[in-house]
Amino acid sequence: MQRRVFLRNTALLAGAGLLFQKQAAARFFRTSEYNIRMLTSRAGIFTERGGTIGFLVTDDGIVAIDAQFPDTAQHFIDEAKKKSEKSVAYLLNTHHHGDHTAGNIAFKGIVSHVLAHENSLANQKAVAEKANNLDKQLLPDITFRDETKLKIGKAKIKGYYFGAGHTNGDAVYHLEDEGLVHMGDLLFNRRHPFVDRPGGASMVSWTGVLDKIAAKFGKDTTYIFGHAGTGYDVTGKQADLVAFRDYLQRVLDFANAEIKAGRTKEDFLKNTSIPGVTEWTGDGIQRPLAAAWDELTSK
Ligand SMILES: [Zn+2]
Ligand SMILES: [Zn+2]
Repeated sequence: MQRRVFLRNTALLAGAGLLFQKQAAARFFRTSEYNIRMLTSRAGIFTERGGTIGFLVTDDGIVAIDAQFPDTAQHFIDEAKKKSEKSVAYLLNTHHHGDHTAGNIAFKGIVSHVLAHENSLANQKAVAEKANNLDKQLLPDITFRDETKLKIGKAKIKGYYFGAGHTNGDAVYHLEDEGLVHMGDLLFNRRHPFVDRPGGASMVSWTGVLDKIAAKFGKDTTYIFGHAGTGYDVTGKQADLVAFRDYLQRVLDFANAEIKAGRTKEDFLKNTSIPGVTEWTGDGIQRPLAAAWDELTSK
């Protein structure tokens, strides 16, 4: 299925973009065996295992957003090496979780910089120190707090931080010329999310973060998501942000009502559905239920 999608999108490349960038993109994607899909003439996504990797082909090298795991990152890098003169030049991390940064190490000696939010760096370091595997990390060497601007070749990329959500260090990257925004794990498309409270997550703040993103980038933007439920896409539009925001709010409202009604957490976690939620189903419902309960009762 992925390969068919890839071929179809490759055919679409012919019509758009500056000559060099078109050629660079074409070289990069000619015979991919991996799950690569172009979203514009120069930018796309790589999916194998872990959080979605976004990328942008520029005339100054490829920019990768997130790194999955060492083995899958290597698949991505191998493709880049074969298909593009300049390979991967920059790596941006959306947040510190292993399914997005464990693969950073595969980019060692290849990329000139690794960028992340300052809390993402602190979290990545803290988790690695605890697991005693700091030597297996390639840590970000550039961090930002509120906003950052990169110019790579002719491409303009902006990084934003809108507050705590899935963790306390979730960066959002805007590929301005492509009309693409990589949201990392700030959006789980029709799949119950992980909520990393030890990593600074806040479901209450998360709803506000989604409002800010939707308002900032609007309806014309295509958003890249870290994860999606079976049968759902890892890209989408503003309506998907609104739907996920609504889902989070319903989880919070449900927890609030049950707390007020004097239920125990144990009983609350036995719920298999959330009132008013129809599209977020399947495994993992205890994750957001527990996180909402803990957040609302810890105040
Ligand atoms: Zn993830
Ligand atoms: Zn995550």
